[in-house]
Amino acid sequence: MQSALESALLQLAGAVDVLGLDDGLHQLLATPRRSLQVAVPLRRDDGSLEVLQGYRVQHNLSRGPAKGGIRFHPHTDLDEVRALAMWMTWKCALIGIPYGGAKGGVAVDPHALSRNELERVTRRYASEIIPIIGPERDIPAPDVGTDEQTMAWIMDTYSMHSGYTVTGVVTGKPVSIGGSQGRAGATSRGVMYSCFSALREAGVDHREVTIAVQGFGKVGGLAAQYLHDAGCKVVAVSDVGGGIYDPGGLDPAALLKHLRSGADTVVGYPGTDAISNAQLIELDVDVLVPAALEGVIHEGNAGSVKARFVVEGANGPTTPDGDKVLEDMGVVVVPDILANSGGVAVSYFEWVQDLQAYFWSEDEVNDRLKVLMASAYADVSALAAAKGLSLRTAAQVIGVGRVAEAHRTRGLYP
Ligand code: NAD
Repeated sequence: MQSALESALLQLAGAVDVLGLDDGLHQLLATPRRSLQVAVPLRRDDGSLEVLQGYRVQHNLSRGPAKGGIRFHPHTDLDEVRALAMWMTWKCALIGIPYGGAKGGVAVDPHALSRNELERVTRRYASEIIPIIGPERDIPAPDVGTDEQTMAWIMDTYSMHSGYTVTGVVTGKPVSIGGSQGRAGATSRGVMYSCFSALREAGVDHREVTIAVQGFGKVGGLAAQYLHDAGCKVVAVSDVGGGIYDPGGLDPAALLKHLRSGADTVVGYPGTDAISNAQLIELDVDVLVPAALEGVIHEGNAGSVKARFVVEGANGPTTPDGDKVLEDMGVVVVPDILANSGGVAVSYFEWVQDLQAYFWSEDEVNDRLKVLMASAYADVSALAAAKGLSLRTAAQVIGVGRVAEAHRTRGLYP
């Protein structure tokens, strides 16, 4: 199976081909600007010491400060972070916000740590990457295994080193310390908007579709809820423990409440059948929303996907080989850099509000998000139709093209 980095590089090569960029520029765009690997020593609650590996990769800075999430996951490594950082670069360019791309991570299972251990890991990792982050340099945000609290600890650590409060150093913070209204649900709301754009283009009424969502975390959980609230029938969801299926339709809000009250997985939720994550991908539904990790739709299972629409909440859930199979089958894939761009869009709004110390209402945030996403979808769809490209290639061509243009305009130093 193609790794995340192989996938990202192949997608870039596809866009470079369409754009007719020269080899030198291709090489520049394929190479991260900065890759930082740090040791993160952790004192466990029992007094023992463990040394974890942490990463921060700034893929490209040609259009503005770097932007991208921080992942806490046991399998995170430098290559994965490089791929995720590259996708952030194209995503920010595609939706027209003035950022480059970055990503960070610590190879750790956050669920195996106590809250105090998690705070120590976060603060030590933050202090190790302080030399390269900052509101004008690189602005982290939550990703898999991190959340608002993680961002609060990073913001506090950075502020303590600076000697004053720097709210704009991270986004996805709690509203009480400079976070934005609407940020928590922004990625999921964007997934819904882009899903509806694809359905509308195909003449499908969203109130008549069935949906399966893989990954019931920050993105998948609220995406399922918003889609359900808008009239879609969400029949299956899953998390790392497995999935659940109810052909009559699930109630995602009730399921989220169930998890908030202490359950650690969706599996076993009353009135549902257990399914595996592999079965969920192949379920007979209209829309599949992969919202967990990379590479879950690949050459080996893409042929068994029955959904007519795949809306990528996750980054890199479909490998290029899987993509080819889906394209041949006529499946509409709304690509990650478009479908999940609502998160970084509202992160940008949060940063703008922090820098101006002037905050917007939730309606203002949601309205601006809707406009931004509709415009990005329209750009991608128009280019795809004009040049006979898939939505993925069209999105990559727009994103990569804008970054290439920034390089050409700025010139090469020295
Ligand atoms: P999260 O940690 O909140 O949730 C991840 C979910 O995936 C959890 O339900 C977890 O149990 C599940 N999961 C983990 N491993 C799995 C596996 N092997 N099989 C099935 N499910 C598994 O993370 P998140 O922030 O919701 O991120 C999910 C995806 O969305 C990632 O690809 C991330 O990069 C992408 N994304 C997140 C944001 C954001 O704002 N958080 C924005 C854009 C894209």
